Amino acid sequence: MKRKDLLNITKKFGTPVYVYDSNKITSQFNRLKRAFNEISDLRIHYAVKALSNISILKLMRKLNAGLDTVSIQEVELGLIAGFEAKKIIYTPNGVSFNEIERVSKMGVQINIDNLSLLEQFGSKYPKTPVCVRINPHVMAGGNSNISVGHIDSKFGISIHQIPLLKRIVENTKMCVNGIHMHTGSDILDIEVFLYASEILFTNAMHFKDLEFIDFGSGFKVPYKKGDKETNIEELGEKLTIRFKKFLKNYGKNVQLAFEPGKFLVSEAGYFLTSVNSLKQTTSTVFAQVNSGFNHFIRPMFYNSFHEIYNLSNNMGKKRFYSVVGYICETDTFGNNREIEEISDGDILVFKNAGAYCFSMANNYNSRLKPAEVLWYNGKANLIREKENFEDIINKQIQINIE
Ligand SMILES: *Cc1c(COP(=O)(O)O)cnc(C)c1O
Repeated sequence: MKRKDLLNITKKFGTPVYVYDSNKITSQFNRLKRAFNEISDLRIHYAVKALSNISILKLMRKLNAGLDTVSIQEVELGLIAGFEAKKIIYTPNGVSFNEIERVSKMGVQINIDNLSLLEQFGSKYPKTPVCVRINPHVMAGGNSNISVGHIDSKFGISIHQIPLLKRIVENTKMCVNGIHMHTGSDILDIEVFLYASEILFTNAMHFKDLEFIDFGSGFKVPYKKGDKETNIEELGEKLTIRFKKFLKNYGKNVQLAFEPGKFLVSEAGYFLTSVNSLKQTTSTVFAQVNSGFNHFIRPMFYNSFHEIYNLSNNMGKKRFYSVVGYICETDTFGNNREIEEISDGDILVFKNAGAYCFSMANNYNSRLKPAEVLWYNGKANLIREKENFEDIINKQIQINIE
């Protein structure tokens, strides 16, 4: 997208506003497909939780993706977007058995990550094939918020419990049609990822009815210049060789599946805000924008770095600013950043705003959630109206307080 397209969007729809570039989503999707083009049966399941607007889901459907969902509501969004139930996989954690039953009755592929739920499900529905989520206990990267493969993790069935898992499958005569892992940590070191996948291949041999092996996600994208990202091409090359060898051992064809969220939508997103005021203290120049962690929480929640630039004065001389929000709590988007000189009213752009940004937005401070715009076919399409005050009060019930 060009600078003038983003500027026009702020004129037409105001700020704050989220903008997503469909061309970038499409090119990331094709890049992943290309890296695995030697796999005859590749499934790419978009992780809905990254960005769940129905128009985004429709774009994914057009690209021929499936969906990875973590709640019955995400499943319902997928069905509204036109996905066939069988192209949706449901990978919940900590949900009720009742929700799993309801989703299964919709015809969605169930992925179970808990032995007691597996036993319950297998006893009641031995004819419904399920996928099992394995925890390979491999941890890459250091942030325990986003590494879910380690020993204390609440995610997945430990590889050390495979004997019990097998016994449950034998006792209930249920069918395991998929085996899954999602460690949640960034794949930076391809060797670490291959090491974890080796564990999955070994354990896959225990299950004779597999239709797919799902490697989850963890594809890392760059957030700033010089950032390391997952080398998808190298991963494609190496995993393809290993996967083909597995197919030979296994003796029949199995699909290879991934569940990328961030990889597909992160870099496609821009969050556009206006500067309410500049405030100089003894040590810092603050640029205060018309947003906060109610709209964009990743910097405060995960300490993630999002590049910020000045859209309205893009040729200005660079100076140092701390960019903060309007919430009555510390909400620093970026500390001590070099940004083109800022004046009141300038538009600041936050990059990598596609994944886990709008989908984590809330109404803290009784603020309204912003609009979303999809750049599609060379045009800005409004795909969500900004909220109004009605949205803040419409579920509230006022009782008589004397
Ligand atoms: C969140 C999640 C994903 C997507 O992770 P990204 O880092 O956004 O690619 C995939 N699979 C499961 C089970 C998830 O919970």
